[in-house]
Amino acid sequence: MSGVLEGYEPKSVLHFFEKICSMPHGSGNTAMISDWIVAFAKERGLGFTQDIHGNVIIRKPASEGYENVPGMILQGHMDMVAVQTEKSPIDMEKDGLQLAVDGDFIYAKETSLGGDDGIAVAYMLAILDDETMAHPALEMVFTTDEEIGLQGISKMDVSSLKGKKLLNLDTEDEGILVAGCAGGKKAICSLPVTFTPVAGNCYKIQISGLLGGHSGMEIHKERGNANLLLARVLYEIRKECDFGLVNMQGGEKDNAIPNFAQAVIQTEASPIQLSQMIDELQQMLQKELTGKDDGIQLDFRQIAQEETVWVKQDCAVSGKKLDAILLCMLMNPNGVQAMSSSIEDTVETSLNCGIMKLRDDDFLVRYALRSSVRSAKAYLFDRINTFVQSLGGTVDTEGDYPPWEYQTDSTFREQVMAVYEQMYGKTMEVQVIHAGLECGYLSEQLPGLDCVSMGPDMKNIHTTNEKLSISSVKRVWEFIVELLKQK
Ligand SMILES: [Zn+2]
Repeated sequence: MSGVLEGYEPKSVLHFFEKICSMPHGSGNTAMISDWIVAFAKERGLGFTQDIHGNVIIRKPASEGYENVPGMILQGHMDMVAVQTEKSPIDMEKDGLQLAVDGDFIYAKETSLGGDDGIAVAYMLAILDDETMAHPALEMVFTTDEEIGLQGISKMDVSSLKGKKLLNLDTEDEGILVAGCAGGKKAICSLPVTFTPVAGNCYKIQISGLLGGHSGMEIHKERGNANLLLARVLYEIRKECDFGLVNMQGGEKDNAIPNFAQAVIQTEASPIQLSQMIDELQQMLQKELTGKDDGIQLDFRQIAQEETVWVKQDCAVSGKKLDAILLCMLMNPNGVQAMSSSIEDTVETSLNCGIMKLRDDDFLVRYALRSSVRSAKAYLFDRINTFVQSLGGTVDTEGDYPPWEYQTDSTFREQVMAVYEQMYGKTMEVQVIHAGLECGYLSEQLPGLDCVSMGPDMKNIHTTNEKLSISSVKRVWEFIVELLKQK
């Protein structure tokens, strides 16, 4: 072990963080770290359970004098989003990370760091390892595969947990206390298509230069959605001249706002007429997106037959089937659908058209739906379902997870805020986030559970530029120590 973090405080937290980073632990590859956490519990004679999905619970009895204080659950996920640059020499399936420190920040060379959520694991291990701390009975919950649709927790039986207070450590802004989150669900739409020969030349139309972003946390910024903008462009062109759709695709992930999309059309319209329309449309879209997504670029060029990527050789989708595709894209809702009434500037319900693709027997469109209100999410899904069915299509679903609904009264939240205010003379900002957290599953299975979520400052999580602030790790550590001391 390199010991890059040796000499930095908090010593034991950073020691365990470095230990975790020495093991590969990308989502879907957590067997080693899960077993290592179990070995850690065994070495210290602590009670534990490990399920077949690798989720682990470790229990530590109350310290002396805290036997009658209500127990607390701490929780974080052991998997990380493992991404690397082309320059990275390591195999993230097998190797540990190459840690480095730059000023106040820890990062990993040419890879993501997994501060999300390795720092939670490190905090919990440091508490379990410490024999001098004052604390109530503790239950530490370490989950797997959070980053790929909250998979570990969704399959975990947490009914043995006795604590009524949960401190989730999976958020990344010190001073912000998360008190609720959205639930999610995918709507996967399929419209049947038929391909027939169409006359004319082929043209490629492409939208690029958009910002994209996280489909939950950035949905309120009204950035351009490349899929919808391209559908709009095709709709506008079709007002003037008919065409067949040879190919169309955009977006890579349900939960990312697509920043690139392209289509190939075949038409007898003149290239001059088309090019003039594209110029006008580019200006129109630029104007509409001013201040929201200024870089939009609409490109158009004629392509040779042999350069054309056909979904079905020399054929295209036209007529009523093309109507259905464009209607589906233009008429289905997208973006923010409702704002929260209990917390200011917070999105309550939204959806993102993340992926579209013309395939040889259907046109696929995938939406990521989010809402912190259960019924609103169900209603939004129903709207898409009924509409797509009316167009002759079908809608499937996957990845349904429950929201963590905001509680107006929360004694644990008040306690956490009071301790923070006492220590730092500042009031924590309470937020409900428009993204998924594991608290939804825990509060669903454990009625009456009082949850909050917090964590130290991290930047650029899930990217190769991820950074974790050492001074913030220290302050949050001191805060947790103080919180556990409360009677
Ligand atoms: Zn996380």
